Amino acid sequence: MTEKKLHRTGQEKPDRIILQINIIIFMGSNMHILVISDIHSNYTALDAVIKDAGNFDQVWCLGDVVGYGPEPDECIRRLREFAPVCLAGNHDLAVAGSLGLGDFTKEAREMIVWTRARISGSHLNWLKSNPSTALIMEHGITLVHGSPRDPIWEYISAREVAKDNLGFIDTPVCLNGHTHMPVIYRKPWDGLKVLEERLPVNTPIRLTLDRMFINPGSVGQPRDEDPRAAYALIDLEAMSLTHRRVQYDVSATQKLMKAARLPGSLIRRLRFGQ
Ligand SMILES: [Zn+2]
Repeated sequence: MTEKKLHRTGQEKPDRIILQINIIIFMGSNMHILVISDIHSNYTALDAVIKDAGNFDQVWCLGDVVGYGPEPDECIRRLREFAPVCLAGNHDLAVAGSLGLGDFTKEAREMIVWTRARISGSHLNWLKSNPSTALIMEHGITLVHGSPRDPIWEYISAREVAKDNLGFIDTPVCLNGHTHMPVIYRKPWDGLKVLEERLPVNTPIRLTLDRMFINPGSVGQPRDEDPRAAYALIDLEAMSLTHRRVQYDVSATQKLMKAARLPGSLIRRLRFGQ
């Protein structure tokens, strides 16, 4: 795999200016990719996903490695062992000090401050230097945390949003995270409408048929009422993506959160996948 920094652009919003870094990546055709997103410092869930995924050649992480959970440093260390293509999520940038806290909820803000005090300087720099978008050139796949239009903040959570974002990508497929909901927004090449579909579990989807936004769901804080960790595997040779779920020891993560006196609502939601 080789990568090069494409360009940097400043994105301006009323209370923030984010430096965006975009990269282009070239990789082999017969690789198997583990796609993960929104780990949110849940090491137990991350470890379960890595073990369940079996053999893979590369990791693509769609951002928000930290925030909410009890083991930020451990998650970054484990992830970096794979030299992943890892995007910067809103929580990652806030922890790294590149993003103000004004747009976060009270619990999220509390956890960003808590997390910042618990990760090493080199890990902070890594979070800060991760790109906002990545383009997997030969395979026609764009990676973002939020959306192509606003990689840091926008939630692709409705057909209209997906439709509006089609004009911001040059590839047939875009993988995104941020909403913690496994979902596909699909626009057939010969159709006008964007369709919303649940991402089926254990059923390969062809990536060459339609224009698609695919969210693999969240590793560390799923919100689709299924508490199991969510992820996806891509076979670049077959150009197919398979969504998977794996049970992990939710109570182990909750125990660590209780011991660290983290907000009760964040602890409880893991049990229900909310
Ligand atoms: Zn996010």
